[in-house]
Amino acid sequence: MRILIAEDEPALSRQLEAALTDSGYAVDCAFDGERADFLGATESYDAIVLDLGLPKVDGLTVLRRWRDAGLAVPVLVLTARDSWHEKVRGIDSGADDYVAKPFQMEEVLARLRALIRRASGQVSPELRCGDVVLDPRNARVTRGGATVKLTGHEFRVLSYLMHHRNRVVSQNELTEHIYAQNFDRDSNTVEVFIARLRRKLGASLIETVRGLGYRIEEER
Ligand code: CA
Repeated sequence: MRILIAEDEPALSRQLEAALTDSGYAVDCAFDGERADFLGATESYDAIVLDLGLPKVDGLTVLRRWRDAGLAVPVLVLTARDSWHEKVRGIDSGADDYVAKPFQMEEVLARLRALIRRASGQVSPELRCGDVVLDPRNARVTRGGATVKLTGHEFRVLSYLMHHRNRVVSQNELTEHIYAQNFDRDSNTVEVFIARLRRKLGASLIETVRGLGYRIEEER
């Protein structure tokens, strides 16, 4: 899972980046509306945190451009405290949810989890497949109740496949959703992550669909 943070206050951006990274997401940061617009339109995100007061191009304009272009990614807007008209304008412009500043980081994380869950058609907060359970609330994976230690990349591969259960996910799509933009990508490493996940979580969890990609099915 990969998230874009569009926030111009450096300290706040850093806090969001640290919290989201700790929660197992790949994170990109944009510090003005122009950059946010570009990244949102050209990269693949599972959710976007968008401050409405951005330099160069304001957040509402960026949001309207994305929605006009048909971009369906869930967007959580950050609004000024007590500004009900900002919340209304944000939602009317295509935001899926909002948090007013100043906020508790836990609230932002919970709202993002809910947006990502809904966007991928999941109803339960925990993702389960046989005896493997992924809990996005604490970035924890268990097998038969025992915690399984995963690297950040392994966790993101598993999380993406679990969120999109019962569907074939191509290697390309996985690559788009597990690395931040500045990361030196190599699509071959996806195979390595899959192999490691199979060793740690059982060979049958992730199916290879030859020529198409990978799939996790709900019932195994
Ligand atoms: Ca701002």
